[in-house]
Amino acid sequence: MNEIIINYIHKRVKNLRITIKRDKTVMVQHPLFMDKLLAQQFVSKKMPWIKKHLKDLDSQRRYWGEGDFLYIWGKPYKKKICISSHNQVQIQDDTLQVSVKEQSQIDFAIKKFLRECLKSEALFLLEKWQRETGIKANELRIKDMKTRWGSCNIDKKRIWLNLRLVHYDLKQLEYVILHELMHIVERGHNKRFYSLLDGYMPDWKTSRKILRNQQPL
Ligand SMILES: [Zn+2]
Repeated sequence: MNEIIINYIHKRVKNLRITIKRDKTVMVQHPLFMDKLLAQQFVSKKMPWIKKHLKDLDSQRRYWGEGDFLYIWGKPYKKKICISSHNQVQIQDDTLQVSVKEQSQIDFAIKKFLRECLKSEALFLLEKWQRETGIKANELRIKDMKTRWGSCNIDKKRIWLNLRLVHYDLKQLEYVILHELMHIVERGHNKRFYSLLDGYMPDWKTSRKILRNQQPL
């Protein structure tokens, strides 16, 4: 395994908290009463858990039901799967509670839930950027795409988003939405296109870089 990068943040929190981000950096927030050395000792005991978690990140790209964790808006949730009389997926604190009628429905149930998560945030952000830019899209659709984060059918003014955007920070989703919305007025990736983007979202390159370092699948 590659070197593990751990960032320590000393702040006003009750307990030490370890968060593993999608880009595989590990964030450790430790309370004011706990110094870094003590936090490091604590983290070294948690190393097997951290390593397992990092390994899970790779498998998650293949199946929604695989791996112990699932990322939603950049935050990992531990999956708890149970068999129940009806399908239901919900977030409870740091856990994704997945109830399914049978094992074979896990992937389907999780995917449906993620689609709803993405759709509600995406519609909100699309609304916001339509207001800001005065550009209108007719429709927003979601698809599990293999090679692209988003696309735009310019004639139909229809924006497509990759379902897997739900794993990343909202900032990245916002960038993809703005990017595709811009295509309605500028088809090509030319000077005009980029200067429009610069005007509305000066830090858009950061989001592009994050997404380029990841494969949609
Ligand atoms: Zn484009």
